[in-house]
Amino acid sequence: MIDSLLAGRLATIAETQVLLVASDYDGVLSPIVADPAAALPDKNAIGALVSLGQMPDTHAVAISGRSLATLRSLTGNPDGVAMIGTHGAEMGDVAVPESTGAVRRLQADLLSLSRQYPGSEVEVKPIGAAFHYRNAARGERAAAEARAIAGAVGARMIAGKKVVECVFGDADKGSALTAMRDATGATGVVFVGDDITDEDAFAVLSDKDLGIKVGPGSTLATCRIPSQQDVAEVLETLAIVRSDLQT
Ligand SMILES: [Mg+2]
Repeated sequence: MIDSLLAGRLATIAETQVLLVASDYDGVLSPIVADPAAALPDKNAIGALVSLGQMPDTHAVAISGRSLATLRSLTGNPDGVAMIGTHGAEMGDVAVPESTGAVRRLQADLLSLSRQYPGSEVEVKPIGAAFHYRNAARGERAAAEARAIAGAVGARMIAGKKVVECVFGDADKGSALTAMRDATGATGVVFVGDDITDEDAFAVLSDKDLGIKVGPGSTLATCRIPSQQDVAEVLETLAIVRSDLQT
């Protein structure tokens, strides 16, 4: 359910000259599911994002911790929506650096750890890896070991829900969102996110932008919706209001 504060903020930002609508994927455009490989998009939410991206002076982007290839595959890479993967490290078709020895060692050590903790999973990415322990027995212990492995190879760790994200380089969702703002010349930005890494993106928003946190937890966002099931309504409302203003 959209509250009156959020409805008002959506109506206001819909009037901005050049609008950038950015969204996280898991838990926002897609419901959280036990198997990360099966996280299919919420049709209404992604449909509204596509509609926004196809409007004049309106840009849409999905910014995810997933690898760019996985994000494109899960979403179907729809026309009109730009995709940024690996927490901002993979932007568009910019080539990522060749895997270094440290990246390969990180991935090998995490895969070996995963075999010791049934139910855990390693998501291999071009410049890092994510250790998922949502479904693992003794998950917190596994996570501590994963953090030690990341520390040993000098990877940066990004906090997430039931995942130890390990990346090299200093890109985050905030730097990615700022780059998109600059590239599009956006005069107003909407960002929707649910996880800890999304706080980097909320942090780069100004008073004229709109940050929307999905679900509970402390946040820098100024508005909140209770759950992923409310995301479609937010994006659909924004699309309808902006479309009405343009006709
Ligand atoms: Mg998320």
